[in-house]
Amino acid sequence: MKKEKEGECELCKKNLRLTFHHLIPKSNHKNKWFRKNYDMMEMRERGIMVCRSCHSFIHKTHSEKVLGRHFNTLEKLLEDERILKYVRWAQNH
Ligand SMILES: [Zn+2]
Ligand SMILES: [Zn+2]
Repeated sequence: MKKEKEGECELCKKNLRLTFHHLIPKSNHKNKWFRKNYDMMEMRERGIMVCRSCHSFIHKTHSEKVLGRHFNTLEKLLEDERILKYVRWAQNH
């Protein structure tokens, strides 16, 4: 899978250079709870392509453990009030 490309950010929808965000961050992959609930392949592949500013906002907002447990789909990320607010703001800037 290509981890970097130009395209539409899945959060702010702008055309920019994108990077791959692991919805279950790598630091969780060795953790027992995650291993029990997801297989390795899924943890490696489940992700979204986002621009650099959206990406850093995600990581600023929640720790990797919290992201992996509670925000491991695009829909769940967008249910977070802070992230939603940021995305709406970013779409217009
Ligand atoms: Zn973005
Ligand atoms: Zn990330």
